[in-house]
Amino acid sequence: SDDLSPSPHIEYDKLLGGLLIEGFDEKSCRSRYQFARYHKSSARIPSPYLIQRLRKQEALQKKCGPGTKLYKKAAEQLRSGQIINVTDCKYLFLTIHAGLGNRMLEITSAFLYALITNRVLLVDRYKEIADLFCEPFPDTSWLVPSDFPLNYGEFTQSSPESYGNMVQNKVVGGNTDRSLAGTRPPYVYVHLDGNYGFHDKLFYCEDDQQFLQGVPWLIMRTDMYFIPSLFLIPAYEDELSRLFPEKDTVFHHLARYLLHPTNNIWYSVTKYYRSYLAKAEKRVGVQIRIFETKGILQRNGPFPHILNQILSCAQNEKLLPEISMTEEGTTSTKNNRTIAVLTTSLSSWYSDRIQEKYNNHGTVDGTTVKVYQPSHEEYQRSRNKKHNMKALAEIYLLSMTDVLITSGFSTFGYAAQGLAGVTPWIMFRSENHVTPDPPCRRAMSMEPCFHQAPYYDCKAKRDADLGKVVPYVRHCEDVSWGLKIV
Ligand code: GDP
Repeated sequence: SDDLSPSPHIEYDKLLGGLLIEGFDEKSCRSRYQFARYHKSSARIPSPYLIQRLRKQEALQKKCGPGTKLYKKAAEQLRSGQIINVTDCKYLFLTIHAGLGNRMLEITSAFLYALITNRVLLVDRYKEIADLFCEPFPDTSWLVPSDFPLNYGEFTQSSPESYGNMVQNKVVGGNTDRSLAGTRPPYVYVHLDGNYGFHDKLFYCEDDQQFLQGVPWLIMRTDMYFIPSLFLIPAYEDELSRLFPEKDTVFHHLARYLLHPTNNIWYSVTKYYRSYLAKAEKRVGVQIRIFETKGILQRNGPFPHILNQILSCAQNEKLLPEISMTEEGTTSTKNNRTIAVLTTSLSSWYSDRIQEKYNNHGTVDGTTVKVYQPSHEEYQRSRNKKHNMKALAEIYLLSMTDVLITSGFSTFGYAAQGLAGVTPWIMFRSENHVTPDPPCRRAMSMEPCFHQAPYYDCKAKRDADLGKVVPYVRHCEDVSWGLKIV
């Protein structure tokens, strides 16, 4: 109903330029069709080819998904350990473990990989995914059935099923003898976690991709946005360029297509938005994530150098008005403008201090600044359902702001900026408790950074600088060894 809308008279493109289709039950997942009401309509339009491929993927998910005959057959092959007969259904099963930002990046990466390799995407059903996100595909489920035959929780980098391990032991791989090419296992475990090694990273090589194409089931564990490296695999280049003529919109479109918070979360997001953010002339999001290594007990501070960094960034870049040097009331100019600042942090200290400064002194131009922070959880507890629901709500609230200041290294901020379609100002990590100079920099694009990117040139068979291969994949602003699409 229209009373939920911040501006009920505007027509919203609820299908997001064709990313979404009609026909889902609105009540069971309100966020799907309400997203557009709370987000500025994107200046970036999905390509007709992307839309066509999404529809094709939806058909594949339905044809081969849980509950179908084809799924039963495929699961049977896993149980028996043999490829009995080849069907059109190949699967990518993503296991889940990390924090919320990481999860959103990894699910999106896995989805794009599944799409370009014609696989059905299934996700872990035990990591409360269903409490966080709605089903993205019509008339089927992306949750792996509870009778899934493999004990995937026990797979590690060094288990015999692990691709890197198989390659290392020359069991399989892109470089094995061609006469062995027929002996493909029914499944392979792909370990793409932050701690992965040389052989695991061969996943990003064309020959290895060719081998993996023939494996019916891939079980993947990752916590990363590995899409930049897919753009460096020659076999996928054409397809990816057709899907994304504007390359820096990959996460933006796919996250808006795929990720829809469940009703409880969406209710708290929209209620908070309407209560505190909707009426302001401008909304500034400040995502404060602190990775100080010194002193576990005071992990999130209070750190005055970080408070200083936030304020310097916001005022230098004119994202927030300058605080006047005089006491409040002596400001001569007054205007009716209000800026709402939405801060997210595990600690409440920073937002309290920012509000205090604006309250005590007012602003040079008379604008009123109000600071809001939905929660302060103090510690990261990624196994706690309520905690994760709050985190997701805050990522979506950040994505509803007009301007974003984010903390470098943090996937929490990446997810928000991509959903928003906003290129953020990134605050760099400080060293020795000193505010960096400059305190922040405008990002090159709104894409997430791939933190543990490979640096191996598969063709030349030696290490190389993969940030210099093509103009649209560069090293990240905040993680010098990472890769991002620009
Ligand atoms: P990253 O570690 O910064 O890359 O982001 P992740 O989202 O992957 O993991 C951090 C986790 O810590 C989040 O998912 C939350 O559980 C928690 N967390 C970190 N910052 C915040 C915050 O500002 N608000 C809330 N509610 N939780 C946070």
